[in-house]
Amino acid sequence: MLEHYEAVIGLEVHAELATRSKIFCACPTSFGASPNTFCCPICMGFPGTLPVLNRTALLLGVKAGLVTGCEISREVRFHRKHYTYPDLPKSYQITQYDCPLCTGGSLTFSLPTGERTVEITRIHLEEDAGKLLHTKEHGTLVDHNRCGIPLIEVVTQPTIHSSEEAVAFLKALRLRLIYAGVSDCKMQEGSLRCDVNLSVRKKGETSLGVRTEMKNLGSFSAVAKAIDSEFRRQVQVLENGGEIYRETRRVDETTGESFLLRRKETEADYRFLPEPDLPPFVLEEEWLSSVAEELPELPESRGERYQKQYGLSEEEARLLTASPALSDFFQSCAEETPYVKLLAGLLLGEISRRLPADPSAKDFPKSSAPFSKTVTLWGEGKLNSTAAKKLALLVWQGEQDPVAVMERLNLGQISDPTVIRTWILSVLEEDPSFLDSYRKGKTNVVKAIAGAVMARSQGKADPVWVNRLLAEVLSAR
Ligand code: ADP
Ligand code: MG
Ligand code: ZN
Repeated sequence: MLEHYEAVIGLEVHAELATRSKIFCACPTSFGASPNTFCCPICMGFPGTLPVLNRTALLLGVKAGLVTGCEISREVRFHRKHYTYPDLPKSYQITQYDCPLCTGGSLTFSLPTGERTVEITRIHLEEDAGKLLHTKEHGTLVDHNRCGIPLIEVVTQPTIHSSEEAVAFLKALRLRLIYAGVSDCKMQEGSLRCDVNLSVRKKGETSLGVRTEMKNLGSFSAVAKAIDSEFRRQVQVLENGGEIYRETRRVDETTGESFLLRRKETEADYRFLPEPDLPPFVLEEEWLSSVAEELPELPESRGERYQKQYGLSEEEARLLTASPALSDFFQSCAEETPYVKLLAGLLLGEISRRLPADPSAKDFPKSSAPFSKTVTLWGEGKLNSTAAKKLALLVWQGEQDPVAVMERLNLGQISDPTVIRTWILSVLEEDPSFLDSYRKGKTNVVKAIAGAVMARSQGKADPVWVNRLLAEVLSAR
């Protein structure tokens, strides 16, 4: 039955903004503090307190809009959205309503089936609520540290049709927000969360079905599982002659299965009203253009440049731009060594294996020069690849002078033909079975001889010379 239906999906993505203090007060935003230590009368909503907008939160919201091709509203307004919940001490959330900061953007990304564009309806600023902790011993506890953490909410059009598309969109969005410094988007710390709205319709239909909303998904795999499972559930309900209700559902993140949480509130339930303590104001053109000038080069355009400028493959370019810290380090090395292909291989192999999934600048050496110098030594044939990798790791761990280390550890590559020839002859002499097999036509023994010569040289012989001289010696026998 599934193949007769199409999923229609719109996402609402919340990202915590990378500010040091909260959106309307001076409390710190650091993650992992003891409960209820980073809050004050303002973010707790005590009567008589006054919120003041954090300038950086506004700046980051504008940047989010600019890197997703949105129009930036010249007028900034806030509303109160009322609902009562134990993690919301004010019983309202300050958010944006009829005048979101950014509107009408889009994001294009590639899938195995080709390029896709998803339209972004709006991006607005708002404050986060607190967090409930459900414990066995003490029942449900409230931590207010998260109250007032600045968020953007990114809302897409309902033009996504599969879990693959949804995840690809989220990955593309996340990478841009990280590059622009809008958010660290650490999903494991909840700085990027996603609500999935999903309805189904028969293929070929154009009207929208009734949707359900699955709240607060904290990983790409949870998003994918929730979509696949909810799609199947809705199709099954309709096929059995049932009806889909507009409702909010809670997702079990391991299975993707969802359960009814509540039938959806309507907009009137929220009693939106203009926030009286934050009067509307106007953004100056000059400030907006200075923000636009501050934006970094985005991953896609960096990747294209790497392919053109350094002859890297599309895959290499994509991997090297998967984090701004890696891309920055690559870039500064690429200006210091002509052997950029070797550099890319080393960074994506030996080094990437030792980096965390989301590396930041502190995971890289402060100066790129010793690393680039190592690559140059390799490129010039002064090191073979095994020694180059070894030296690169030592430099990564803090060695500053690769030439000195190379000499101290005797890592230099030997490409002196006379020396290599002596090694070949002694290897053949010590183990006559090598020549026997070779004479019997077992050509794969050549590899074994080369290996023995490499071992004799303690890995330092230049393999190109070993193979060349070995061919010479063998053909003369
Ligand atoms: P609300 O403010 O009630 O959450 P919105 O109109 O802002 O509603 O839409 C929220 C999200 O739901 C958007 O991402 C939108 O694309 C998506 N959406 C709206 N209608 C549908 C539908 N029929 N099926 C799937 N997604 C939908
Ligand atoms: Mg919503
Ligand atoms: Zn506070």
